[in-house]
Amino acid sequence: MATILSGAAVANARSEALSARVTKLKKSGIVPTLAIIRLGERPEDLAYERGACKRCEQIGIAVQKFLLPQDAAQDAVLSAVEAINRDHTIHSALLFQPFPAHIGGDAVIAALNPAKDADGLTNDSKSHVFSGHGIGFPPCTAQACMEILHHYGYDVTGKRAVVIGRSMIIGRPVAMLLLQENATVTICHTKTEDLPALCRDADILIAAAGRANMVDSSYVSAHQVVFDVGINVGVDGKLVGDVDFAQVEPRVAAMTPVPGGVGAVTSTVLAAHVVEAAEGMA
Ligand code: NAP
Repeated sequence: MATILSGAAVANARSEALSARVTKLKKSGIVPTLAIIRLGERPEDLAYERGACKRCEQIGIAVQKFLLPQDAAQDAVLSAVEAINRDHTIHSALLFQPFPAHIGGDAVIAALNPAKDADGLTNDSKSHVFSGHGIGFPPCTAQACMEILHHYGYDVTGKRAVVIGRSMIIGRPVAMLLLQENATVTICHTKTEDLPALCRDADILIAAAGRANMVDSSYVSAHQVVFDVGINVGVDGKLVGDVDFAQVEPRVAAMTPVPGGVGAVTSTVLAAHVVEAAEGMA
């Protein structure tokens, strides 16, 4: 049986320290503030927004929402970004992705002040994650995996890490964060040959493919720590990870559950980015 790496435990421990930092900021007249830009009402965006707002409220962070219809014009989205850039009382922004097809997402992201980029979207943030220099934060989910590793005392130095997924929001940045901490990292994708064998060889396995239950018992081995980043909606409407919990949990050393794992930490990392940005602008 695996040790279950509870995201709630990590999030609660992190939140206490963040609340203390917010209290200090408020004493000097600064209310850390997150702006949210959301187009339309995708259920997954609404679910994430609810969790983020709840966490921010708990920590003492204010949230200002810029809500636009699904068919909003590009200029309206750019105006919201520019309003956020101009407003000195807003320290950080979350832009829900992907944008509808008629919106040029690259132009919207390029318009955001990188210092206010809470989720690693801008080129400056990406450059920071990949080079270790400059400004910006890693995407919250990628950092959440690292926070769980740190909280539970895993040292990745010299360990073999396999990441399933090469997106710019999870797969690649989490690979870079693992590399920064001296893991030996392999990034896998749909063209990877013999994926189960590569995965079995890993000390740390990060599943971020967005394929419900794809990681079964043929992908894992007994010594492994497995991170299930996937959030998929099952046929019954329930959340399912990329890892088949029933098959994998009895066969690995430790794993994150879905729900209650990586996703539970992501909103706390978002809050941490807002607080850090506010401290930086103080
Ligand atoms: P994405 O942009 O669709 O990328 C998925 C990646 O997985 C791609 O690189 C793809 O390879 C690879 N992949 C897909 N199926 C595969 C397979 N059968 N074998 C090997 N590789 C495969 O997705 P994403 O935005 O990175 O998100 C991944 C998952 O994380 C989703 O379930 C999403 O809902 C979840 N998520 C979780 C959180 C959280 O807080 N826990 C936050 C955001 C997203 P190719 O490049 O070859 O296509």
